[in-house]
This record gives sequence, C-alpha cells and structure tokens, in this order.
Amino acid sequence: MTSHLMPTYARLPVTFIRGDGAWLWDNHEQRYLDALSGISVCNLGHAHPAIHKAICAQSEKLIHTSNIYGNTLQEQLADQLTAASGMDNVFFSNSGAEANEAAIKIARKYGHQQGVEKPAIIVMEKSFHGRTLATLSATGNTKIQQGFAPLVEGFVRVAYNDIAAIEQALLENPQIVAIMLEPVQGEGGINIPAPDYLNNIRVLCDKHQLLMMLDEIQSGMGRTGQFLAFQHNQILPDVCTLAKALGNGVPIGACLARGKAAEVLTAGSHGSTFGGNLLACSAALAVLATLENEKLIKLATQKGAAIGDGLAQRLHNNPQIKEIRHLGLMIGVELHKPCAELVKMALAKHLLINVTSESVIRLLPPLIIDADQIDLLVDTLSETIQAFTA
Ligand SMILES: *Cc1c(COP(=O)(O)O)cnc(C)c1O
Repeated sequence: MTSHLMPTYARLPVTFIRGDGAWLWDNHEQRYLDALSGISVCNLGHAHPAIHKAICAQSEKLIHTSNIYGNTLQEQLADQLTAASGMDNVFFSNSGAEANEAAIKIARKYGHQQGVEKPAIIVMEKSFHGRTLATLSATGNTKIQQGFAPLVEGFVRVAYNDIAAIEQALLENPQIVAIMLEPVQGEGGINIPAPDYLNNIRVLCDKHQLLMMLDEIQSGMGRTGQFLAFQHNQILPDVCTLAKALGNGVPIGACLARGKAAEVLTAGSHGSTFGGNLLACSAALAVLATLENEKLIKLATQKGAAIGDGLAQRLHNNPQIKEIRHLGLMIGVELHKPCAELVKMALAKHLLINVTSESVIRLLPPLIIDADQIDLLVDTLSETIQAFTA
C-alpha cells in the first residue's frame, strides 16, 4: 500500500508500540534498548508512571482553555523553571523551533528599542535551531536550507567555539544585537566548546549590550549533568530556550528571559493557541518533580562517564575512532569516515542510536538508564563499530 504521509522522513524499518524505561517493543514483540530517547525527549524513559499519572489526572479535569484566561499550572511551571535557571520569566510554546522563534523575536524587538534599524543575530556554523523559516535560516546547515530561499535575513554566521570570530563579526557589523548558540551542539555532532567559551561570550555580550541567547533544547533538562548546560559555567544568559525533554514526549517548549530581555514582549506582541496548555504543563511539572525525586541530574555525569570510558576502553585500538566526547549523557563518537550505516547495523542488534553530521555516532540515552543497560549499550555498540570498521 502506498503511504499517504508526506515523505519528509527517511524512516527506519521498525515500528514501536510499547515502552518501559529504556526499553521499547516493536509490533513483533521484539525488545530494543533505546540509547536515543526520541532525540533527547523521553529523558525519563518510556511510560514513566509519574508522567502517566499526571496527564491522566489532568485530562480528567481540563486539557485546554486558552491563553485568554488564567492558567495556574503555567504559573507554577514558570515559577519552578525560573527558580531552577535563574531566569525571570517564561513564554510557553509547543516545540523547540517555536521557542527559538520567540527568542529571535525578542532579539529583533530589543534591537529596535535600541534604535537599530536592521537588527542582526550572530549564529554559529553547524548549529541547529529548527525547521521554521526563521529557525532554519539561523541553522548552520545548508542541506536544511536547500530549496527554501529566500531565507529570513538578519543572521551573521561565525565558527563555533571561536571568540575571535565573534569579535571580528562585531567589528564588521554594528547592527548585531544578539548572539544565539547551543551550549553543546547536538545535530552538529556533539561539539563541546572550550570550558571558558560561554564565559567569554557573556563578557562580550555585556560589553556590547547584546543578548546572549542559549538554545538548550537538546542540552537542557538535566541531559549534561546540570539542569541546564550553561550551569557548568558561572553565568546566566539573557534568553534560554527549552523543549524536547521538558514534557518527556508531551509537546511543550519554553523561552526563558531575564533582565531587559524579559521586558521586551508585551501584551499582543506574541502568542500561541496551544502554548503551555494545562495538559502539557501537567506533564512538565511531573518531569521537574521526577528529576528532583530520582536525583537524575547528578547521576547523568556518572552514567555519561561510564559509557564514555567503557567505549574508550573497548575501542582504544581502533584507528577509525577520531574522538569520543561527552558532557553528561550527551555523547558523541566521531569516526574518521561517514558511518550512517551504523544505525541499521545497531538496529539489527536491537540497539537504537543515531548518526549525525555524517561521521558522529550520537548517544542520548534516557537519564534513567541503569548499570546493566549501560553495559549492554557499551558492549553492543563497540561490537557494532568494530564490525563496521573491520
Ligand atoms: C530539536 C532541536 C530544535 C528544534 O526543536 P523542534 O521541537 O523540532 O522544533 C532546536 N534546537 C535544538 C538545539 C534542537 O536539538
């Protein structure tokens, strides 16, 4: 039968119908170990009882009203997110791209408030910010932009992890009002910048009165061993975006702002029909409570080290391994050659992984992964890599 879905995804030949923690079962009752979490969405694993309970209970009462009315759960979630992040206020969206759209709108309006006629935002090579027109224009990947010209203007691209490149761009362009980046690049290949990179960007933003805008959509929610990846540094951004793991699979995104950035969007200047509805907020509140109750963020550092060290030990003799990088449970294994094929080879061994940026194996296992599952992941993946590179 022909599919009536638009062919926007190159889907793998497997269909899951049930999950439990880090396990997934397909429609033939075959079990798989999930080392991707739906791309860092199901950070608490599949079918977590706390999330299940929260959304069941909320759906019995009320799913959606409208942002025309008050919303107690949105208020509670905003209280908790600002307390945990050091930010001042929050706009809720339904996805990552929409959270970044809000950030981009804040930067533009902030620029106009400063009298800048055509406000521009510095963005990075190899970045990923989403698939809407503005966010794909901000994204540093020509494949994602291919066919969609004219792109949204007002983005100035520089190399990632290169402070001199930012300084140069600032010299050349007086219209720059913000710098937008991922604290760790996800789609771009798990690129972890120098430890002082974010601090140096903070200094530049203060000096030039720019908004520092961090896309934490993949790196946030405990993934890297801090609630937000920027908390590895002693800094605060002006804007920070979340989505992916915020609802553990229930769609919700957030744009957090601080100081002058928190005062830019006013009544009527932005909005969303679904954004922050009661069902989505109930899921996100349960996610925050569970992260806290199960002490999952601290454990992410140990678990990431166990996986990184385990892989390094098994693969140290393999000349095809270029580098193994990890910050908490954001893990990349870079090969010297393209390795997209590894995804199918691992699937055949009932292990779910991803390859991004052509030659980087990306692992984003759920934060609840246990010691036995970590051993199975390390064993299966190193065997698969050895077979692929032999
Ligand atoms: C996934 C992702 C996005 C886009 O989120 P969507 O929910 O797919 O719109 C943006 N930025 C980063 C860093 C991401 O990983």
